[in-house]
Amino acid sequence: LVVLESVDVRKSYAAKGFFARGRSTQALDGVSVQLHRGETLGLVGESGSGKSTLARAMTRLLPIDSGDVILKGEGITHLSTKAMRPYRRMVQMVFQDPYASLDPRQRVVDIISEGPIIHGTPPAEAHTRARRLLGLVGLDPSAADRYPHEFSGGQRQRIGIARALAVEPEVLVADEPVSALDVSVQAQVLELLADIKAELGISMLFVTHDLRVALQICDRIAVMRHGAIVELGPTAEIFASP
Ligand code: ADP
Ligand code: ADP
Repeated sequence: LVVLESVDVRKSYAAKGFFARGRSTQALDGVSVQLHRGETLGLVGESGSGKSTLARAMTRLLPIDSGDVILKGEGITHLSTKAMRPYRRMVQMVFQDPYASLDPRQRVVDIISEGPIIHGTPPAEAHTRARRLLGLVGLDPSAADRYPHEFSGGQRQRIGIARALAVEPEVLVADEPVSALDVSVQAQVLELLADIKAELGISMLFVTHDLRVALQICDRIAVMRHGAIVELGPTAEIFASP
């Protein structure tokens, strides 16, 4: 069963600066890929191959030039902002640098409750659920009343994961979620993501340039080069191929 897919998605960026002369970069050159329910699909490839662009296009954080993004059978490319709202909830993103994406002035409990409150959950209930989520991601309940800078990188990534889970998404799009962490901490966060996927039945699109990380967490792997998927298959097959 396909939960999220891109169909022939193209995206180019205009080159910037005095010497740009109207040039552009074709970041995605007609990419079609399907995320199956319950799987972790890795997007791997060298820096600049288009992984981040594809990930953001599939969350609709980034407008595309042509093609379509389909969530649970419905094309979401041309939906209005209002019509997009339920889909925004269903697909949540986890970023590389949790510090950059966590508001330093907000308490952890408010960071995690913000999404549910926007989507209509009463604040008191959202706060209760946020505190429960902290336990799920392996943080002490006392973390709720502290601020992001009081935590280590790995702990901050757990906060980022809790924030994503708070709106009960069906898909997590994780863009290099462990790349900024020490190797020992990477393993713990990867384990957490694997547990979450198994327990909550969430599907995951997982961007990484690190093959060791991909081998650990991905069920299937799509290899990207120059804005296209050049290989796609079960992780073991991709790693076995010469
Ligand atoms: P990856 O995630 O694999 O490193 P990206 O999707 O970030 O690849 O980038 C794909 C290509 O698009 C690269 O050539 C990159 O320089 C270019 N690119 C990405 N984001 C922008 C942007 N905001 N403006 C201009 N070019 C961009
Ligand atoms: P990543 O590690 O995800 O590939 P980068 O370090 O390439 O990210 O890019 C960081 C930010 O800069 C992103 O928001 C990306 O869209 C933007 N960016 C990447 N390449 C370019 C570019 N050639 N021109 C302008 N912005 C870019």
